[in-house]
Amino acid sequence: MSTLQHTGLRLRVSEKFGGTVQGEGPSTGVPACFIRLALCNLICSPCDTPYTWDTTRFDLRKEAHYENVEELLAWALDQPEDLVVVTGGEPLIQMAGLTELVKGLRAAGRTVEIETNGTIAPSEALVAAGPYFNVSPKLSRFGAAMPETRRLVPDVLRAFVTTGRSRFKFVVSEAAELAEIAALEAAYALTDISVMPEGTDPEVILAGMRTLEGPVRERGYRLGTRLHVLLWGDERGR
Ligand code: SF4
Repeated sequence: MSTLQHTGLRLRVSEKFGGTVQGEGPSTGVPACFIRLALCNLICSPCDTPYTWDTTRFDLRKEAHYENVEELLAWALDQPEDLVVVTGGEPLIQMAGLTELVKGLRAAGRTVEIETNGTIAPSEALVAAGPYFNVSPKLSRFGAAMPETRRLVPDVLRAFVTTGRSRFKFVVSEAAELAEIAALEAAYALTDISVMPEGTDPEVILAGMRTLEGPVRERGYRLGTRLHVLLWGDERGR
């Protein structure tokens, strides 16, 4: 049952699913349910969830629906998994509804991770609600159609570091990109860095991990993976 008073707030949702595991970042392998919010403020070339935002290729009237915060909260609390991952798209676009959702989840004792591209600063209320932030700044390869100032916002990266609840996660296609990560680490004092290979095919992920293992270890970063891809390929809703 919802622990939240009716707020009247709605969130635009792409999909939600339980009975799975967190596939990326420090909690990889932990049982989890997912709420994927629609809309994004970036236009990354290698985006693997364009159906959440790209109206040139997808009909968002079909791909995304509105749901009251209370309905979403009730759904999440009905899932057996403690960990609730709110992802996107870019969830922080819908800050007010997201904050109320996280408040309700935390009040019920759930662990919450928010996946974000790190370009929108979390509000004080959202930070106070107590989620973890899995921040995934986009490297230059993602930004063919975007200026650097759009994909990297210094004050916002500092704001995430200041929360003390942020972990940083980078998707790379080759080891040469580690130098770019190191420059961001030095500039913004990023901590808890995971590096994972790009790909939506298990063989590509494994090959990428084999290539990255040595260089990532030498930098002192965590070698990440995309566990959901290894298990289920690019199947949606897993
Ligand atoms: S920030 Fe994420 S969801 Fe948004 S376009 Fe880039 S990869 Fe896709």
